[in-house]
Amino acid sequence: MSKPRLEGKVVLITGAASGIGEEAAKLFAENGALVVVADVQDEIGQQVVASIGLDKASYYHCDVREEKQVEEAVTYTLQKHGTLDILFSNAGVIGPLSTILDLDLADLDNTLAINVRGVAATIKHVGRAMVSRKIRGSIICTASVSASVAGVGPSTYTASKHAVVGLVKAASSELGAHGIRVNCISPFGVATPLACNAYNMEPSQLEQSCAAITSLKGIVLKARHVAETALFFASDESAFINGHNLVVDGGFTVSSHNPAPPPKL
Ligand code: NAD
Repeated sequence: MSKPRLEGKVVLITGAASGIGEEAAKLFAENGALVVVADVQDEIGQQVVASIGLDKASYYHCDVREEKQVEEAVTYTLQKHGTLDILFSNAGVIGPLSTILDLDLADLDNTLAINVRGVAATIKHVGRAMVSRKIRGSIICTASVSASVAGVGPSTYTASKHAVVGLVKAASSELGAHGIRVNCISPFGVATPLACNAYNMEPSQLEQSCAAITSLKGIVLKARHVAETALFFASDESAFINGHNLVVDGGFTVSSHNPAPPPKL
C-alpha cells in the first residue's frame, strides 16, 4: 500500500467548521494529517473534530479578524504537535449582496477584515513559525472565481478575493526564499452554507444554477473537489508550484458566455 500523502503532517485550517474547510479537514485527516480545526462556530467545529476522531483532530476557536487569536491558534498548534507544516487559510464570508450603488462601507470593512486581513494574519503568523523552525511548508488560501471575474458576487467580495490573489503572489515571492510555497484555489459556486444562505437557495437549486453556466457538463462542483485541490497543494505532488491561483470552475471563467449575472444580485 502506498504511503498516505500527508503522513504525519500538521495542518491548521481556518473556516474548518463548515463547507470547504470541513471537507478539507476530513480529507487531510484521511490522508494521514493531524488537523487543527479553527473557526468561530465552536459547536459545529467540535462536531467536525468528533467525526474525524480526537486522535487526529482538535478544535481551536479563532476569529481571523483578531490577529491575537490567529497568533494563539498558531501557538496552540505548535504546542500540541511540535510543528506546523501546512496552512489552509480558508475562512471567508460573502457579505450582503448589495450593488456598488447601495454599498454600506461597514460591510466592506467586515468582508475585508475576514477575507483579506484574516488571510494576511494567518500567512504572517504561520510564515513566521515556518521560517523560524526552517519548515519547508505549504500555505494554501481560498480565493474564488470572483478573483478573476466580476458579476458573480458583490463588489465587496470581488475586491476581497482579488486582494487574496495579490497577497498570495506577494507572500510566495517572499517566502519562497525559505522553501515555503504559497498558492490559492479559486472555486466556482459550491453549495455550502455561505453560498446557499447568500442566494437563498437550497443546495440542489444552487448546484443546478451553477452547473447551467459552466462549460463542463455532466458534473457538479462539490466541496470535495476543492478539498482535493487543497490536498494537491498540501502534498509533495505540487512541490515546484508557488504563487499559483488554481481555478476550479469547470471552465466558467474562460467561457465567452461569462460572466453570467448572479442569481438575485
Ligand atoms: P462556509 O460558510 O460553509 O464556511 C466558511 C467558514 O468560515 C464557516 O465555518 C465560518 O464560521 C468561518 N468563518 C467566517 N468568518 C470567520 C472568522 N471571522 N474567523 C474564522 N472563521 C470564520 O462557506 P464555504 O463556501 O466553505 O467558504 C470557504 C471559503 O471558500 C471562503 O473563503 C469562501 O469565500 C470561499 N469560496 C466559496 C465558494 C462557494 O460557492 N461556496 C466559492 C468560491 C470561494
